[in-house]
Amino acid sequence: MSNSEFTEANLQNCLNDLQDPVFHKPLAKSGLLKSIKPGDGGQVSVQIELPVPSYPLQSELTESIRDAIQKAFPDCSAVEVEYSINIKGKQSGARLGLKVKNVIAVGAGKGGVGKSTVAASLAFGLKQFGARVGLVDADVYGPSIPHLVGTSEKPMAQEFQGRDGQTLTRIIPVEADGLKVMSMAFFVEPEQAVIWRGPMLHKAITQFLQDTEWGELDYLIIDMPPGTGDVSLTLSQLLELAGAVVVCTPQQVALLDAVKAVQMFRQVKIPVLGIVENMSGEIFGQGGAKARGEELQIPFLGEIPMNAEIREKSDAGQVSQLLTEDLASTAPLLKVAETTAIEIARTLLENPTEPALEIL
Ligand code: ADP
Repeated sequence: MSNSEFTEANLQNCLNDLQDPVFHKPLAKSGLLKSIKPGDGGQVSVQIELPVPSYPLQSELTESIRDAIQKAFPDCSAVEVEYSINIKGKQSGARLGLKVKNVIAVGAGKGGVGKSTVAASLAFGLKQFGARVGLVDADVYGPSIPHLVGTSEKPMAQEFQGRDGQTLTRIIPVEADGLKVMSMAFFVEPEQAVIWRGPMLHKAITQFLQDTEWGELDYLIIDMPPGTGDVSLTLSQLLELAGAVVVCTPQQVALLDAVKAVQMFRQVKIPVLGIVENMSGEIFGQGGAKARGEELQIPFLGEIPMNAEIREKSDAGQVSQLLTEDLASTAPLLKVAETTAIEIARTLLENPTEPALEIL
């Protein structure tokens, strides 16, 4: 039979219709299949390129690739499947000249639901998977990120000569546990009530993004102020956001606020990646966000339990440890980061008209 001949084209054909268990798309279409080659002695070597830093069902995928090849080519002696990672993105920062693949806004309908904690742990989670990550604290009314990541440093300003001889100033972000961080708290005194008018806010956020030396990033997480639409509007004008993550608690009231946050993001044309239910457990209940998300046709990105160690570590400026140590909350927090990255990649795959540009 000619199609069981051990050629590259035949091998490719036999994997064409195979769907991966996460994106549920044929390997050839999703771009996951990088190459498939016959080797010596009836061996086959397959290279899979993942668009996300963490892929939960790698062994299932390996098995189904092996099965498909061995079924089509009974003479095949061994199948080797190798994985590499190439994080895909919308090149969110292109309009501002930033080399940032994905900008993610983290919002909530109201304060106190753990939005900043989720934003910081999402950033550390993605970093833990090996991605290059930055974190912007745009919660101008209560900037808490420096406290959560445990830094009291201030960003440095670096001056250099522009092309036309002008002196330009670039801000070097503070580094906290390997994360690049910018916050309004670096520029205002603690306890100082910050009343920002729209244009000032717009200017400050623009500076945070445009004049900061972010370098190349896979993800830039933005901790948004709760409720209001001002900052969202600014962001949607400046960037092509990968999307927004909405944080809520399981209580009914907080859920209604979450619905408002979802509508607000949709109004300014920022796609909503999904909802995270924070503080779930005995006190506030569980599962409300998932049900509401289904009603609104919004993906559910995971639930984070109400847990004293989350409060203790964040109050002590040690959010990064929640992701690196083996604590009760570690797995749920990593899961939220993993699912968020998958949701971004899924959105890109499902909207092939949007360019998934590479940063070279
Ligand atoms: P927001 O940004 O929504 O105002 P924060 O992230 O500042 O909320 O969190 C408010 C408080 O709740 C903080 O003290 C934080 O440590 C605590 N917290 C957040 N999430 C959890 C959780 N899952 N379990 C226990 N405490 C939490």
